[in-house]
Amino acid sequence: MRPVHLLNADLHSHSTVSDGTLQPEDLAARAHANGVQLWALTDHDAVAGQARAREAALDLGLAYLTGTEVSVSFAGETVHIIGLGFDPANDDLVRGLAATRGGRLQRAREMADSLARAGIPGALDGALAYVDDPEAVSRTHFARFLVERGVCSDAHEVFRRFLTDGKPGHVPHRWATLAEALRWIDAAGGLAVLAHPGRYGFTPTEEWALFDSFQRLGGRAVEVMVGAHNEAERVAYGKLAQEFELLASRGSDFHDPSDSRTDLGALPDLPGRLQPVWLALQGRIQHG
Ligand code: AMP
Ligand code: MN
Ligand code: MN
Ligand code: MN
Repeated sequence: MRPVHLLNADLHSHSTVSDGTLQPEDLAARAHANGVQLWALTDHDAVAGQARAREAALDLGLAYLTGTEVSVSFAGETVHIIGLGFDPANDDLVRGLAATRGGRLQRAREMADSLARAGIPGALDGALAYVDDPEAVSRTHFARFLVERGVCSDAHEVFRRFLTDGKPGHVPHRWATLAEALRWIDAAGGLAVLAHPGRYGFTPTEEWALFDSFQRLGGRAVEVMVGAHNEAERVAYGKLAQEFELLASRGSDFHDPSDSRTDLGALPDLPGRLQPVWLALQGRIQHG
C-alpha cells in the first residue's frame, strides 16, 4: 500500500454529460484500469453523471468523490472552480448549476452567428450533434465540429485560430461570480478547489487577487498536479498553495482518449511538502 500522500487520486475528468467523449461508466473502467485509487467525475456545470459515475466506481472497488467544475467570471476572465465531496441533490447547488448551463445555448447561437460571418455556416447544428444535452454545449463541441469540417486539424489549432478572445466564434460570456460558486458548493457540503490556475493568463496582481478572494470566500484547495500545468507551473502553484495555506489537488482533466495530453491517473505524485486535498475529504469519500 502506498502512503496516503501518494494515493493515485484523479479528481478532475469529464464525461459525455459535458464535453468529454466517454460515458461515466467507461471513465470509471479506464480510471480503474490505469490504477486510479480515488476518482471524481467533474463535468462542467453539471452533476447529471454523478450517480452513474459513483455506482460504476464502487462496483469496481474504486473510491469515489462527487465532483463538478463550475464556470465563473473573475476580473474579466473565465475561471473554473471544482467542487468535491458535496451532496449532488442539494437545491442551491442544483439550481445554481442549472442557471449556469442556461446561458450556454444562447452563447452557442451567438458563436455560430460569428462563425457564419467568418464563412463557416452550420456550426450550431454541427456542435449540437456532439452533445447529449443542448444546455451543456461548450466550445469543445464547436472545436470538434471545426475539425470534422476540415477547417482545423485538431482542437489546439481551433483554440489558436477561433473561439478565443478577438477570434471568430468568440462570444464574451458572463458566468456566475466566484462568491456564488463557492456558496453553492459550501451549501451542498462540498470543498472548493481552484482549477488549473496556470491556464488563466492573469497578471501577477490579478492572480494574487484571485487566490486571495478564493481563500477569503472559503476556497480550500488549488490544483497543482493537473494536465494543463507544465513543470514550472507545478512548482509555482505548489509554492502559492503553501503561501495561501491551501490544500493541493491532483487531476488529469481527461476529456477524450484520442485528444487528451494526460490520461486518467497518469500524473506525477504531489510533492511531499504539500497537503493533499483528499486528507480533508476523508468522511466524504465513498467506498464500495
Ligand atoms: P466553455 O466552457 O464552453 O467555454 O469551453 C471550455 C472548454 O474548452 C474547456 O473546458 C476545455 O475542455 C476546452 N478548451 C479550452 N481551451 C482549450 C485549448 N487551448 N485546447 C483544447 N481545449 C481547450
Ligand atoms: Mn472541458
Ligand atoms: Mn477547466
Ligand atoms: Mn476540466
